[in-house]
Amino acid sequence: MITKAMNQLVIEGFVAAHTTHDERDRVPRRIEIDGKTGLIQSVGETHGTGDLLLGERFTIFPGFVDIHVHAREDATSSQSYKEDFRSAGQAAIHGGVTALVDMPNNQQPPIDDASYSEKREIARACPVDVLLYAGIGPRTRPLSFPVPYKAYMGPSVGDLFFDSEETLREALARYRGLQISFHAESPEVLHQHQHAATHAERRPPAAEARAIETALGIAEGFQIEPHVCHLSTAEGLEIIRRARKRGAHVTCEVAPHHLYYDLDNMSGFSQPSYLQVNPPLRSRLDRIALLEAFRAGEIDCLATDHAPHSLEENEAGVSGMPHLDTYGPFLFWLMDQGISLSTLVSACAERPGKFVSRYLSSRHGKIEKGFVGSLTVLEERPITVRRGTLRTRSGWSPFEGVTFRGRVSHTIVRGRVYPQVED
Ligand SMILES: [Zn+2]
Repeated sequence: MITKAMNQLVIEGFVAAHTTHDERDRVPRRIEIDGKTGLIQSVGETHGTGDLLLGERFTIFPGFVDIHVHAREDATSSQSYKEDFRSAGQAAIHGGVTALVDMPNNQQPPIDDASYSEKREIARACPVDVLLYAGIGPRTRPLSFPVPYKAYMGPSVGDLFFDSEETLREALARYRGLQISFHAESPEVLHQHQHAATHAERRPPAAEARAIETALGIAEGFQIEPHVCHLSTAEGLEIIRRARKRGAHVTCEVAPHHLYYDLDNMSGFSQPSYLQVNPPLRSRLDRIALLEAFRAGEIDCLATDHAPHSLEENEAGVSGMPHLDTYGPFLFWLMDQGISLSTLVSACAERPGKFVSRYLSSRHGKIEKGFVGSLTVLEERPITVRRGTLRTRSGWSPFEGVTFRGRVSHTIVRGRVYPQVED
C-alpha cells in the first residue's frame, strides 16, 4: 500500500456529481490534497498530470461515511473478539468507508463526559475518522460538550434501554433541543408478541411503526431533532412522510440488508439463519417500498448497522451482521436498481458527512476546498465477495458468493492512499 508521506497528493479523474441539476452525472476534476493537513486544497480542471490518474471506468466519490457501526471495543475489551476499532477501520477502508459513527451499546457504555472521553481515546486506534454516539438510559444526562445521542427503545445491552414509553419520555425531557437517533422497536409491542413462532413475528412491523410514532411525538414536544435508525417497514416510512408533511425535520437511514434481503428471498443465502437481525428482515413489499424511497431521495443515509459477532455466535442465533467490507461493491447493486450517482453521493457521503461534521472538528462528505481529503474510488470491475478477503474479525458477509458489478479500487483517508489489491 502507498502510505509514503507526501507534501501533496494530486488525483485526476471523473467525480460523481452531487446535484441532480447537473446534467452530466460525472465531471472530470483535478483534486489536490495537502499532505500535512490532510485537507482538500483545490478542486479544478484536469491537467493530465498527478499522482493518481484515473480512467473512464473509475468514479471518484467523497469518502463514504457510515453513521451506524458497532466497532464493539471499550475499556473492558470484553467484546473485542468480535471486532475492535482497528479491525473495524480496516474493514471500513476495504469497503471505501473513510469515517464512521460508533454505537454506544458497550459493556461500559459512553454515557457521561468521563466514559465518553475514555472511549474516544480508545477509538484513536481506528485508521478512519470516528465519531462516537453517547447512550441514553433511564438515569443518564446530556454531556457537557456536543455529541450525537442514541436511544434504544426496547431491549439492548446493560440498562441502556427503556421498558416503557413513559420512562423514555421522562429521560428525553432532559435532552431538550439535542439530536437523538432512535432504535425504533416498541417494548410494549415486542412484549405482546414475545411467544410468536419466528424471529420476524416476535418483532412485527407494528413494533417499528408504533415506536417511530412515539419517538417523533416525544421529539416534537421537546424540540429534539429525531433520526430514525435502520428503517425497515413501509408503515414506518409512511409515518416519517406524514411528519415531514407537517413540517417536522426527521432524518432516517436504511441498512443494506433491508434493501437486499426479505423474508422471501433470504433462503437464497447459504446460511439464512445468519441473517437474523433487529429490526428483522421484512416482506418483499416493505423492501420494495424502501428501495423506492431511496430512489426518490427520501432516505437520508445508507448506514450499515455493521454488527459483527463470531461465527459461533451467528450459528447460535444472535442478531446482527457485518457490512463494512462490502459497502462500496454494494453500491453497484443499488445503481442496478435505478439509484442515481447523485443520490448515492447524497446518501453515502454528503448527508452522513453533514451529520458527523456537526460534532467533529473537520468537514466531511464533499469534494470541496477545506473538506477532509478523504475520497472513495469505485471501479467497474466485477468482484465476488469471499470470506477469505474480508477484514472484519467476524469473518463472514451476508453477501458472500454474490458478484457485484464493481468494487472499491482506492480508499483515500486524509490524503493517505489505500489501494485495494485483491484478485
Ligand atoms: Zn445497531
